[in-house]
Amino acid sequence: MAKVEIRSESCKSCGYCVKFCPKGVLAVGDKVNSKGYEYVAAVNMDACIACCMRARMCPDAAIEVYK
Ligand code: SF4
Ligand code: SF4
Repeated sequence: MAKVEIRSESCKSCGYCVKFCPKGVLAVGDKVNSKGYEYVAAVNMDACIACCMRARMCPDAAIEVYK
């Protein structure tokens, strides 16, 4: 089963990963990191197909996907 790890302190809440995840796995959460950004969380982890698309496109390298 795939595992998505979010580095919450690196996330700037830009929303790219949420918009482009083909399975709706990610969402901007309601928790704020030390820089004041509401960071992303995996809210539908069971749907993840480990395509790794969003891990590659995050401008801040805040997502890691393990297969
Ligand atoms: S693409 Fe990266 S910085 Fe942007 S919301 Fe997703 S995890 Fe955060
Ligand atoms: S690996 Fe693919 S399906 Fe899983 S969270 Fe990232 S973009 Fe979505």
